[in-house]
Amino acid sequence: MPLIRIKCTNPRCNTLLSISASLAGQRAKCSCCGQMVRVPDRPSLRKKSTRAA
Ligand SMILES: [Zn+2]
Repeated sequence: MPLIRIKCTNPRCNTLLSISASLAGQRAKCSCCGQMVRVPDRPSLRKKSTRAA
């Protein structure tokens, strides 16, 4: 299972978290401070810039 790396949104924490990609688009709890951090939608699935579709 791939991991998504995000930073805790708590400015007093700022821990770099490794979140399971299965939680993409959801919220995960920071293992350090307990802050609920929003996990971005799969950054690995990059579409090519086809804005003119
Ligand atoms: Zn935290």
